[in-house]
Amino acid sequence: MSGKPAIHTLKDIPTILMPSIDDMVGTEGVYIVHLDACLSHARHYVGWAKDIYERIQSHLLQTGARILAAAVREGITMQATRIWPGADRLFERNLKRGGNVAMHCPLCADEYRVRRRDEMRCRRVRERGCEDGERTRNNRGADASTHTGTGGAGVG
Ligand SMILES: [Zn+2]
Repeated sequence: MSGKPAIHTLKDIPTILMPSIDDMVGTEGVYIVHLDACLSHARHYVGWAKDIYERIQSHLLQTGARILAAAVREGITMQATRIWPGADRLFERNLKRGGNVAMHCPLCADEYRVRRRDEMRCRRVRERGCEDGERTRNNRGADASTHTGTGGAGVG
């Protein structure tokens, strides 16, 4: 019949919202990183990793995805807000291709309808940079250490 089970859709696969470090250490799968301010065109990053925790750490150390390295340099705090343990690269691709990652981010989903305006604004400022991000970043500066799930202390 159909060989290995294909895990393609959001509904087919268990997910963890606001994962703890324990949830991520040694966990293979797909993850969403939520940026606390928008960076050029994005407020979320979707990735796949063999070890999500390791991968998040490398993002924070600026040795992972370029866009997240840029975010770290800009002083934008970030955290993994959702993971799908066991999800594969095809799932990652589908999630990216579906757009509207904010809809799947627990920090954004509840206010998705409202926040969609922010996302649109992020898109609009794509060319001239994210002025909104500047303001948010400064506001968030004080509680940057409170974000969980990514071992924030290591941002250094
Ligand atoms: Zn979000």
